[in-house]
Amino acid sequence: MKKLILWDIDGTLIRTNRAGIVALVRAFAQLHGREPDMASIEVSGRTDRWIISRMLEHHGMEPTAHNIHAILEGYLQLLQGEIVARPGRVLPGVLELLETLHHRADVVQALLTGNVERGARIKLEHYRAWHYFAFGAFGDDSPLRNDLGPHALRRAKERHEIDFRPERTFVIGDTPHDIECGKVIGARTIAVATGNFTVEQLAAHAPTAVFADFADTTALLRVLE
Ligand SMILES: [Mg+2]
Repeated sequence: MKKLILWDIDGTLIRTNRAGIVALVRAFAQLHGREPDMASIEVSGRTDRWIISRMLEHHGMEPTAHNIHAILEGYLQLLQGEIVARPGRVLPGVLELLETLHHRADVVQALLTGNVERGARIKLEHYRAWHYFAFGAFGDDSPLRNDLGPHALRRAKERHEIDFRPERTFVIGDTPHDIECGKVIGARTIAVATGNFTVEQLAAHAPTAVFADFADTTALLRVLE
């Protein structure tokens, strides 16, 4: 019986040193002639399109598909440059875990992220982790993170001809939104405090397990058993 492991990206696999946000801010400024006010927008665990919608609304603009698309295209043009300019890192234990799980016949790994797919690819190719993921659910699928789990399950079924049962599906992420979107599909949820939330803050949302980081790779592998 195979297990499905659905990974978040930012704050879970990598930290980009705000390259994504800086690219979004620059894309907005290029189009609209002013820097967006990001102070009141909570970005952690949100989708790209949700964040862009809030940026537009804060500045009195309609979050139409056209307006969102224009910023997204600008963002995708700028992202690679910002990632190079603002060195980030792969988080502790992550590459070892991805590699170990990649070779396990009973494990399918995929992404469950608010990043649009092209952005996810730019980020993870830079950190040499994109090749571990044959598919995923992305911010392209919905602006709402809680909608993404069913897309991931549907693609997993299409590719592997398996209905992954909730108790054999694991959603791994760094925010309460990741925990929530995992619970929506009945999955096990694993939280990690390598983003902007502490172990205590994450534990308050009752994930299946919570870690400070994944430096002890065997501890996560045990939870997956
Ligand atoms: Mg995250």
